[in-house]
Amino acid sequence: MTSGVRLILLGKQGSGKGTQAVRLADHYGIAHLSTGDLFRAAARAGTPSGLEAIEYMDRGELVPDDIVLKVVREQMRRGGLMDDGFVLDGFPRTLAQAEALEAELAAADRPLDVAIDLEVPTEIVLDRIAGRRVCEDCGTTYHLTMPPKVAGVCDVCGGTVSQRDDDTEASVMRRLELYHTATMPILDFYRGLGRLVEIDGMGSGDEVFDRVRTAVDGRLGG
Ligand code: ADP
Ligand code: ZN
Repeated sequence: MTSGVRLILLGKQGSGKGTQAVRLADHYGIAHLSTGDLFRAAARAGTPSGLEAIEYMDRGELVPDDIVLKVVREQMRRGGLMDDGFVLDGFPRTLAQAEALEAELAAADRPLDVAIDLEVPTEIVLDRIAGRRVCEDCGTTYHLTMPPKVAGVCDVCGGTVSQRDDDTEASVMRRLELYHTATMPILDFYRGLGRLVEIDGMGSGDEVFDRVRTAVDGRLGG
């Protein structure tokens, strides 16, 4: 029985976390929670936390931990994710967030199954992000070399496909720097807990997904 599996996805901007998270959610029948998507939706809806978050996002800075944790806790509770399983995409992104998540899961007696690190060299992610185009409504990602069938219109939901406001060169450099300083320490944290699997993130979405699924199933003993 593989339902109810609890996963997190780690990896640089442009490493393919969003793409793999969607596939994992579908394959294991679990919820997909992307903090970036959540904040963008909250900002569009004009909620206080959304408007505060977008100030940081547009500059490529991290949203403060207290805001992030509040929003994530709310979503986990509301969706019943502790019991039904989840794949977290873009969270945790600081050691404090990882420790808070670990404490919540331990308190609920619902330990994390696997922390997946998607490894892609920086020069490749720079190229991926420069050409990245995203659906404003459902978050499906495209690339200049793999556009939607109708220019600017999402294949999945018909929403508008555009470049993200924070995919500018300055913001991307800052986000990659923060990935190294703030997020990389998390890898050691999960390695120490024996939960980390490192996956080669190069190749097609299908190839990467096969690697990820095989690694997760191996961990689940299935
Ligand atoms: P990317 O991985 O390309 O940065 P995301 O959509 O995951 O894209 O995140 C966009 C922005 O949202 C981040 O640059 C950051 O400002 C904010 N954000 C998302 N998740 C977190 C988090 N867990 N902690 C702090 N900030 C976050
Ligand atoms: Zn869409």
